[in-house]
Amino acid sequence: MANFNVSRIGDGVYCVLDEGGASFYILEGRDKAVVIDTGVTPGEKIMPVIRKYTQKPLELILTHAHVDHMHHMDEFETVYMSHREFELPKDMLESMMGGKNLDLAGTIDISTGSVIDMGDDQIEICSVPGHTPGSIVALDRGRDLLFTGDAIGSGCGVWMQVPGAVPLAGYLQNLISLEKWLVERGGRMKFWGGHSFQRFQSTLILNYNPLSMGLLCDLIDLVEQVVKGQIVGRPSNVDKIMDLSPILYASYGRAELQYNPERIG
Ligand SMILES: [Zn+2]
Ligand SMILES: [Zn+2]
Repeated sequence: MANFNVSRIGDGVYCVLDEGGASFYILEGRDKAVVIDTGVTPGEKIMPVIRKYTQKPLELILTHAHVDHMHHMDEFETVYMSHREFELPKDMLESMMGGKNLDLAGTIDISTGSVIDMGDDQIEICSVPGHTPGSIVALDRGRDLLFTGDAIGSGCGVWMQVPGAVPLAGYLQNLISLEKWLVERGGRMKFWGGHSFQRFQSTLILNYNPLSMGLLCDLIDLVEQVVKGQIVGRPSNVDKIMDLSPILYASYGRAELQYNPERIG
């Protein structure tokens, strides 16, 4: 039996960290509970872990279609995912199934403005195409918690070098839209990423670089300067995934970015 490290991060909200370093979240509402992402634990199920924390009917929100976020979607009947993920290269999407035949077409499409109602609280969606074309963030309105998947990174920089990522110039506009969207909602939400352990793996700020509104503002400044050629990254030490293009690393303020210099404009 695999080990899951579960911590309570709010009233009825749990962060589950799996052995592979992926984080997913359980949010209990009055009428149902929402799970955000699934982690990836091959050969096992995550439902027994979730059922220790809630008995409510469950719905799943996927922040994006990467294997470490959707591997266990087949344990859920109702799954929300942005259908812009179908813009990903077909072979990439298939490799992200992790050997399963996942029913991505059977998911319910979500984008900015989508709301999932839990009775006494709502989860509101904002699209942030970048890391993938269909990346979204999910805001728990009542508890003021923002779940960001891999949309802005989780401590060792946002991975924009991955195949299928949006060019940086487009990502910049989507980050600016996200900042505006968050400010309109008070701007004081706490951020929870898709790999919560990585806050301890920053290259820039040793030991601790949690996601925050401040980091998002720095990320906008960073991406803008990279797009304008005012910042040029240095060779990155992250492993290449399915792609032999060069990968560069750049930072500004609290923000960190891995990117492909051929995919800026
Ligand atoms: Zn990802
Ligand atoms: Zn991930």
